Amino acid sequence: MSKLTGEEQPAPRFLADCMLGKLAKWLRLVGYDTVFIHDATDDQLVRVSVRENRILLTKDHSLAERRMVRGRCCFVTEEGTGAQLRQVMRDLDLRIDESMAFSRCPVCNSEIEQALKSTVEEHVPSYVYRTQEQFGRCAGCGRIYWKGTHVEHVLQALHSRKKST
Ligand SMILES: [Zn+2]
Repeated sequence: MSKLTGEEQPAPRFLADCMLGKLAKWLRLVGYDTVFIHDATDDQLVRVSVRENRILLTKDHSLAERRMVRGRCCFVTEEGTGAQLRQVMRDLDLRIDESMAFSRCPVCNSEIEQALKSTVEEHVPSYVYRTQEQFGRCAGCGRIYWKGTHVEHVLQALHSRKKST
């Protein structure tokens, strides 16, 4: 099994507990399918993790210790979203594929489809329309995205060694 290309294994899917909503958004921004259930109980989280084969991300030590989620749980100890994202990448031996960034809606987790520039003009600020070339539309909620500051910010935090929020 080679880790060099990352093509043999499908990308892992995640489930974030209620303490990790911002981490869930950042994982989506870099392309990972991540479910965030705002007010899920521990039992619900365990069930969804097992049923949907998702890696449970939690800051709750006792939840991370549950037998049902052994081997499919990442106990997040870092503070600050940038540091947490780096911890998840490190613990699971993942590397960010920058071509995956900008492929998933940070708000609803649906896939972002390419949108023709001519179809988004009335939906984005005119400055953005003038300065950006690549646009996408969320297949789920219809929001328009462009490869601007959000993704850059997350990628920068990933490459940074410093603590960031
Ligand atoms: Zn969406």
